[in-house]
Amino acid sequence: MAMTGAGDLHVTSSTDEPHIALSYHLDMVETRPIVFLGASYAGLSASHYFLKHVYPHLPNEPEVQYKAILVDPSTKWFTRHAAPRAIIKEELMPTNLIFHDIEAGYKQYGDKVEFLQGRATAWDESARTMSIQKANGESQTIAYWALILATGTKATSPLFSLQGTPHTEVESAIRGMRGRLASAKDIVIAGGGPAAVESAGEIGDFLNGAAGWFSSRPFHPKAKITLITSSSKLLPQLRQSLSDQAEKFLNRVGVDVRYNTKVYSNVALGDGKTKVILHDGEELETDIYIPAMGVKPMSGYVPDHLKNDKGYVVQNDSTLRIDAAGPRVYAIGDIGTYSNDGIMEIINGVPVMETNLKRDLLAAHSDPNGEPEGEDRLYVREEREMQIVPVGRSRGVGAVFGWRVPSILVWLIKGRDFMTSKAHEYVSGEAVKKEA
Ligand SMILES: Cc1cc2nc3c(=O)[nH]c(=O)nc-3n(C[C@H](O)[C@H](O)[C@H](O)COP(=O)(O)OP(=O)(O)OC[C@H]3O[C@@H](n4cnc5c(N)ncnc54)[C@H](O)[C@@H]3O)c2cc1C
Repeated sequence: MAMTGAGDLHVTSSTDEPHIALSYHLDMVETRPIVFLGASYAGLSASHYFLKHVYPHLPNEPEVQYKAILVDPSTKWFTRHAAPRAIIKEELMPTNLIFHDIEAGYKQYGDKVEFLQGRATAWDESARTMSIQKANGESQTIAYWALILATGTKATSPLFSLQGTPHTEVESAIRGMRGRLASAKDIVIAGGGPAAVESAGEIGDFLNGAAGWFSSRPFHPKAKITLITSSSKLLPQLRQSLSDQAEKFLNRVGVDVRYNTKVYSNVALGDGKTKVILHDGEELETDIYIPAMGVKPMSGYVPDHLKNDKGYVVQNDSTLRIDAAGPRVYAIGDIGTYSNDGIMEIINGVPVMETNLKRDLLAAHSDPNGEPEGEDRLYVREEREMQIVPVGRSRGVGAVFGWRVPSILVWLIKGRDFMTSKAHEYVSGEAVKKEA
């Protein structure tokens, strides 16, 4: 069936039809879907914030209803920043601390919100529709009233992030790694950012233990662990002295670092080993190879003209709107160009995006072309040095707002539990309880 007006959806119930769309136009009530794509840090924070601080301010009229729809292929949120410890063993990072049920946190809002297990596959920004491939195999097209993209980035390895698929893919990758690690004698990790450094530190601590007080390396290392980075320093976002400190901490748990070296490719060998081929042709045969370098935006459903050359969604980095995609469309979190792929950008960005969303929704309530009056709220990028990186189970390096953070504080902030004790606040909405 055709669409008759902005925000209306029509039922195509025949199973022969490619789309099965729910009706949002029943009994003369117009329902306006506010669609959040992605339910990780950004999507969870943005949707809870919307339901707590924006929805209650929208006009309450029987003939016009707003409804939040949260879409994610995974029913569980994965606290990916805990992956470096989770890959070691269950006792160090139990499964229930890294996977969290998404839907349970939304029960408090009743029918104001709906969780849809599915994946956005195609976006027609001129028709204002999003096609969703649902977990049960059906397709659904949603004509959105407002749209928030929060589909983030994926790591090369499923050990470190959801891949735009159910969480079970990550869970089985982690279980597989745990099974192989304990007996590994040679491990190669590629990457020089936090995921690589943290993973190397955790693995070194687990297999080799830490050096004694007057040594710089463990006495009897069980495994040879090599961290390979194409860069000339570890942790490029931090100053040189902190990068050097990270290398010393890695050495203490028996990890060697090779700089200015690029992994060209890797080949699985029949005996469970992997051949890692470097850019200069050198070949390393290893028991375990972990690619922990870089991330890619999960923006396959976004038309090319709305993305930059790396696949990130081009937005107004101040208002967080996607200006080229029509009214009431925003990006939040790793997926958008305003972000440097970090959690702080989400914490600071959500209130900005929501203020502008609220202004836009109120202005368009009676007239879809209505523009908000007054000033937009603007996002200001944090330029100071900000990164906290545990290296092994008791040490770490980092800086906050440009200030160097002592190793013990890195442990307290992150190394102790990889921030998993705060995870329930994101799935319950507690993290955005206060309007910022
Ligand atoms: C090992 C590691 C350690 C880290 N440590 C830190 C740290 O200490 N501090 C920090 O600030 N940052 C850290 N980060 C980065 C941080 O995890 C990310 O910035 C954050 O997860 C981004 O959140 P997000 O919601 O934007 O996207 P993501 O977490 O990438 O989530 C994207 C969501 O979108 C869903 N999705 C994907 N495709 C679709 C689709 N087509 N349709 C619908 N849904 C879709 C996914 O299933 C997922 O739920 C770390 C990352 C890693 C890998």
